[in-house]
Amino acid sequence: MSAAAKSAAETKLEPGSTIGILGGGQLGRMLALAAAPLGLKCHVYCPDEASPAFQVADAFTLAAYDDEAALAAFAEAVDVVTYEFENVPEATARFLSERVTLRPGARPLAVAQDRLSEKEFLSSIGIPLAPFAAVDGPEGIAAAAKVTGLPAILKTRRLGYDGKGQTRIDSLEEAEAAWARIGKAPAVLEGLVDFALECSVIAARGADGATAAYDIAENEHRDHILKWTHIPARLDDKTQDAARAMGTKVAEALDYVGVLAVELFVVHDGEGEHLVANEIAPRVHNSGHWTQDGCAVSQFEQHIRAVAGWPLGTPARRCDVVMENLIGEDAANWQAILAEPDARLHLYGKAEIRAGRKMGHVNRIR
Ligand code: AMP
Repeated sequence: MSAAAKSAAETKLEPGSTIGILGGGQLGRMLALAAAPLGLKCHVYCPDEASPAFQVADAFTLAAYDDEAALAAFAEAVDVVTYEFENVPEATARFLSERVTLRPGARPLAVAQDRLSEKEFLSSIGIPLAPFAAVDGPEGIAAAAKVTGLPAILKTRRLGYDGKGQTRIDSLEEAEAAWARIGKAPAVLEGLVDFALECSVIAARGADGATAAYDIAENEHRDHILKWTHIPARLDDKTQDAARAMGTKVAEALDYVGVLAVELFVVHDGEGEHLVANEIAPRVHNSGHWTQDGCAVSQFEQHIRAVAGWPLGTPARRCDVVMENLIGEDAANWQAILAEPDARLHLYGKAEIRAGRKMGHVNRIR
């Protein structure tokens, strides 16, 4: 192990230390809120002046991800760095990791930023996936469709989220049009999965190699955006265990330190219930927000513990929860939600309500 890698493995913060967070969205905000009761400070780095995380952080840096002077000063000001979104530029992650411990490291980012490398990685560790093939131009779609069958989904390799950068193809006549619809970018064609449910596993791995996985979340989307998470998921115990094992396996194979999510499809066939992985999020995840009110140790605290080099907490669930995302105008109902006895309201402090924007969420305890 190199000296730098050894010191990264050994980083263990004292209370009063500062965690640097790349990204200033609601996930960064909730990480900073979870760090505070542990006596840890957060310094948020984000190029967007209206970052929800700035409001609750001990310090913030408003600068671009390629501003090396600002990054160097940030590295100097913090004891460890983490990230709250997966599109942190690779050069930024590399620049920081040469100066300060980065948890999780640069590899999980590189794997998760590219759908093709993500699928190749998952398949190399034996996680079941829908059939897939790389597509570099419209003429490649026919060959890829021989692997995936049709219908299939064409997804850009990079920068897709919430259903953006992807389109369904029912016949090869649509190849040119589908290629244009995704913006003519390098892509992956993926077989259409006839799923019964969508689920996700939130798993954590500590700097000491210990792992923990939460109960599986059942996710319901509206307009391609997560709207509800139901806990417990309607799954056999065996499938729950298999999903937890997948999350842990991914964390171990990436030598990961922190919380990650693996999104899964649940398929029912003649032989029972099967899992097919969709994608990895190398960060805390919207489908883990229920843990704030359903567990003694939330996904946010768990991530902070891991990044600090502290022992993980228990992922045990204390109650059933339905998490509802407050999207756009949903957030205008905040007063009615406050009046519900078993609802816990979480608002992100975003100044302006916009259609499709995640403004907050509510955890309803059952
Ligand atoms: P993604 O951006 O990959 O998370 O996909 C967004 C949503 O599109 C998923 O949550 C699914 O509802 C749907 N989807 C993505 N890939 C597939 C697939 N291969 N088969 C069926 N539905 C899919």
